[in-house]
Amino acid sequence: MKWCCGVFKGWFDEAGNRGLSVVVGRNADGTPAFMLQHRSTEPDDDGPKDHPRPITLASEIQISYCPWCGCRLENVYRKSIDLMIRPGLRNSILEIR
Ligand SMILES: [Zn+2]
Repeated sequence: MKWCCGVFKGWFDEAGNRGLSVVVGRNADGTPAFMLQHRSTEPDDDGPKDHPRPITLASEIQISYCPWCGCRLENVYRKSIDLMIRPGLRNSILEIR
């Protein structure tokens, strides 16, 4: 697979770990959705037990352009979008209430 830049690939490879990453999905209308995601905990950590609720363990914001090289992501990844989608990484956006 061809990447727009090495930094984008590096953050894509971080998905699922604590901290920032890039995740990919599709919007309700089927268009590609590229997101910067932040996770507060490691994958096997349910978060703090004695903290007032709610707690957001992961959040994400959609982006259209690569923050590092400036390319339009939909144009670069149009043909490989389905190879980039890792469903479990988006389903685990958590809020503890
Ligand atoms: Zn890039």
